[in-house]
Amino acid sequence: MSAAYPDLKIQRRLFVVINPHGGPGKAASLFKRKVEPILKAARCTYKVVSTEYHGHASKVASEIALDDFDAVVTVSGDGTLHELINGFSKHKHPMKAFRMPIAPIPAGSGNATSLNLLGTKDGLDVASATLNAVKGRPMAIDLLSILQSGKRTFSFLSQCVGLMADLDLGTEHLRWMGSNRFVYGYLRGVMSRKAYPFAISIKTGMSQKGAMVDALQEYNNSAPHYDVPRVEEESTTDLPPLKYVDEHDGWTSLDGPILFMYAGKGPLVSPELMQFPVAVPNDGMVDLVIQGRLSRSEMLKGFDGAEKGSIYWQDKAQYFKASAYRLKPLLKDGNLSIDGERFPFEEYYAEVHRGLATVLSM
Ligand code: ADP
Ligand code: MG
Repeated sequence: MSAAYPDLKIQRRLFVVINPHGGPGKAASLFKRKVEPILKAARCTYKVVSTEYHGHASKVASEIALDDFDAVVTVSGDGTLHELINGFSKHKHPMKAFRMPIAPIPAGSGNATSLNLLGTKDGLDVASATLNAVKGRPMAIDLLSILQSGKRTFSFLSQCVGLMADLDLGTEHLRWMGSNRFVYGYLRGVMSRKAYPFAISIKTGMSQKGAMVDALQEYNNSAPHYDVPRVEEESTTDLPPLKYVDEHDGWTSLDGPILFMYAGKGPLVSPELMQFPVAVPNDGMVDLVIQGRLSRSEMLKGFDGAEKGSIYWQDKAQYFKASAYRLKPLLKDGNLSIDGERFPFEEYYAEVHRGLATVLSM
């Protein structure tokens, strides 16, 4: 193990964040029944915080005593991880905070992080995820800076507008359905076939599908990925600079009505949907899908093979790997989802930072 990752102790000291509001609201009882017994058997010590309001996880992460814990465990969905990452960015020593490994335990309606770390078979299994918290090894993951009206936030998972944002943010009132609310939301989108005008401009690394498959294969053959190049760290207190924010030349520009734009860092966004088949957690790129308008029957066919990434092969979907991009809505109302959380429906700039944050992986 490199010096960047001091050996984790066998008896881990864990900081557990439970979101009792996540998904169908079962996180607290899941923790008691399925997580705690494993932590005890593994002789971990742990401090538990149950989030009491939106933003609580962020506050807790911004104040965490970094030397007192080996990892932060979340019992929640992806939204709580988003809060943690942003809390770390506001820590007195953000660059040190970003090295705190995070281990997600799936208890929300969106549990993409856990699915990507453990695979479709075990990704929603609480015991497997707890095992990862107890014995997983730190792995660097990319983060994106999101710059919107001068305000900078961090995204670790996804950004989307159009149908794929509507089906999440527009179904918040159906939390009791678990992840079925996303399927319901998609079907609603099939009925309306609503297309949105956006101006999108991309600093592309790659847009040739063959080249992306080759790059993915190379990545898969070059395991292990525990020690990937990270953002250069000048001090523990400075966030990484934005490298391309003033750059425009040579970017690929697209505009016109589209069904959705979806950008993401992990292949799976739900057990039924591999949206980004060639996504890599730490290649310094974000995968971007721009889906043009489809007929209703084409949209329904989208279910076929969706879990294996069929969208990647569709002609009407454009797929890019980008190191930065800009997106501007050309209409007033809509949903912008960043890591499944609601953001103002306004222009933003996004840039990837390679290996900035850390998760546990088995
Ligand atoms: P899900 O996958 O179901 O969306 P998340 O973990 O992503 O679950 O959390 C959803 C939202 O719940 C987050 O925006 C988080 O800030 C919010 N939240 C956390 N604790 C509470 C609480 N006690 N009451 C209301 N909202 C909360
Ligand atoms: Mg969420």
